Amino acid sequence: MNTGYDNYEISNWKKCFRLGYLTHLRHWVPDRSAYPLLFGICIHAGLDIIWLGIQAGRPLGEVLDDAIHEFNKAWLGEGYPLFGPEFEDDADDMKFRTPDTGAFILGEYIDRRAEYIKSVELLGVEKPFIVKLPTGWDYNGVIDKVLREFSFLKGWEHKTTAMYSESRRSFQPNFMQAWDLDSQTKGYARALRILYDDPDASMAIDGLAVHASARDFIVIPLDPPEVEIETWAAEVGSWINRIEAAKNAYIHEGFSIAEAFPKNDQSCFQRYGTCGMFDLCRFCEHPEEEQEPPQGYRFKPWNPAFRRATDKGVEATTINLRSNYG
Ligand code: SF4
Repeated sequence: MNTGYDNYEISNWKKCFRLGYLTHLRHWVPDRSAYPLLFGICIHAGLDIIWLGIQAGRPLGEVLDDAIHEFNKAWLGEGYPLFGPEFEDDADDMKFRTPDTGAFILGEYIDRRAEYIKSVELLGVEKPFIVKLPTGWDYNGVIDKVLREFSFLKGWEHKTTAMYSESRRSFQPNFMQAWDLDSQTKGYARALRILYDDPDASMAIDGLAVHASARDFIVIPLDPPEVEIETWAAEVGSWINRIEAAKNAYIHEGFSIAEAFPKNDQSCFQRYGTCGMFDLCRFCEHPEEEQEPPQGYRFKPWNPAFRRATDKGVEATTINLRSNYG
């Protein structure tokens, strides 16, 4: 089923069209450098169990055991070993993003959040949606948690980050401020307000520090004004138009790879580290001539959170922004 674009794919194209081509048209990913993404996926799996288990009133020790089990299951499911020689080989790349760290963070998360989770009404876990944009494209996403705190409707997005200052015992300002301009949370706020027919619904970032020794958690409330949310749909639709135009130019109009999918060397080093395609870009000027991924890379199509949620049987809601704009 073609469900259009999600935030991860659009973000990759926005960073660099060559990155978009390699990741989303060729489906090549680095062999070993996806640990921040892998760790985030596994923590999400554990957090779902924690929220559902605490809401059901289960003993916290049992909930933690199940959450760790779910973390490990997701780790194995993504094709990574939990121990053995291959695990040892990957130790340098993992740094502190290991299953042991995951278990520890999940335990601390329960200590920090259990009372809050008990106090709210949980309305949705991994709530998938498709937004039909005014430009005609589909945008899919998953709201990690939908909850009601007193009379306030909120969407929570869990985000793991290494942007933490151990000396100051606080999240780095860049992590805190980045969300004010974040496209994903604006889109999700738009979807949330329409899905639940509540114009005052707001989003929040549930931040989890993933660090060598420090553990910390933060909630960053986000309440973007409606005018910002209105422009989100136009901006994301415009980006998808540009991506589709580049694909069309390459596939149907004879544009070269350099013309259709130029490198953006301003994006090679970003706040989350070096682009995973850096080695490939340095040594492979014509990836279109390669049938197989070069050494150090493998074929692995992106599996959006939307598909992971609907594969588990969670029903998706379709939101037609065209009618909401009318
Ligand atoms: S290494 Fe740089 S040029 Fe190459 S795909 Fe990544 S961001 Fe683009």
